[in-house]
Amino acid sequence: MTTATTERPAAALPVQQPVSAPEYRFFSATVARVQRLSPSFLRLTFAGPELTGFGAGGADQRIKLVLSRDGAPVGDLLTDGPGWYQDYCALPDDRRPYLRTYTVRDARPQLGEIVVDVVLHGVDDGHPGPAAGWAAAAVVGDPVVVLGPDRPGTGRAWGVEWAPPAEGTLFLAGDETAVPAISAIVEALPAGRRTVAVLEVPDAGDVLSLVVPAGVEVRWLVRGRRARGEALGPAVHAALCELGVAAPAAGVEPEDVDLDGGILWEVPEAGADGCYAWLAGEAGMVKKLRRRLVRDLGVPRTSVAFMGYWRLGAAEGS
Ligand SMILES: Cc1cc2nc3c(=O)[nH]c(=O)nc-3n(C[C@H](O)[C@H](O)[C@H](O)COP(=O)(O)OP(=O)(O)OC[C@H]3O[C@@H](n4cnc5c(N)ncnc54)[C@H](O)[C@@H]3O)c2cc1C
Repeated sequence: MTTATTERPAAALPVQQPVSAPEYRFFSATVARVQRLSPSFLRLTFAGPELTGFGAGGADQRIKLVLSRDGAPVGDLLTDGPGWYQDYCALPDDRRPYLRTYTVRDARPQLGEIVVDVVLHGVDDGHPGPAAGWAAAAVVGDPVVVLGPDRPGTGRAWGVEWAPPAEGTLFLAGDETAVPAISAIVEALPAGRRTVAVLEVPDAGDVLSLVVPAGVEVRWLVRGRRARGEALGPAVHAALCELGVAAPAAGVEPEDVDLDGGILWEVPEAGADGCYAWLAGEAGMVKKLRRRLVRDLGVPRTSVAFMGYWRLGAAEGS
């Protein structure tokens, strides 16, 4: 399914002057547009004068949506600055807002807008998580609060993991929750950089049309009734062999990662020569993909960034 949509033009807003600290803060905005892209993806555009100060620092910029637990506005419950998290944790359980992580699909600070693509998991069967449920019910004018980067200062921006080496082949893979990040990453690549991205989505209608530079190939896999990652694993294997980055005799067992012990997240600072791989999606699936790359295909561990974006059976933050 193609997902071309017409966006209402927005009037330019005055851009706020840069501020020195902190690296990130809460932004209040409203839902300005709601677009159903496909069976699984809903695009929300948030807008407001505070977002002219939003400092997107990279293609996979993450934010937190701050969602009311009891329907009351969340703005008064939050404090900006270094102590915000302690203050947040000190709130009573029944009032402490949900925090859910999303990728900025597009940032337009000159218009005071950011765009987020939300996977509507669990909506059809009546059991969405708080974020998917909130998004599915969102209408233009709804208030929204986002924790996001202030104008980036020097050094590495907050909430950005995409940091490939200057040269070499790029490889990206993920499930539907990684589609917004991978889409933004590949669209922003310079022409001529050899890149393959493999994306597994739930439904044939979730195959989105991307405009990518020369040298970038995006392969979509439709999961259908198969288990998550069942299609992605072999496709990743085949793509890396085609790219010539596999060293099949390697047999190096990556150190195990304990999914019960916390988040699955490792991002090498600087990729080695050769191939730089970036994997994201459901944590158990990402763990298996990483093992396939490192143990079966001989991709150096230091060239593989892997991120558990969510975990089957566990709400974010639990
Ligand atoms: C850096 C980062 C960037 C991300 N970017 C995006 C993005 O751009 N778009 C996006 O849609 N998601 C994105 N995610 C994933 C998103 O944060 C999770 O899916 C989140 O759990 C959704 O919150 P929820 O309140 O709907 O569900 P939760 O309350 O967190 O979970 C409730 C239940 O739903 C299950 N669940 C959660 N997500 C899914 C899913 N996608 N499919 C099936 N079951 C699920 C959980 O296992 C749990 O059992 C990102 C995550 C990270 C860490």
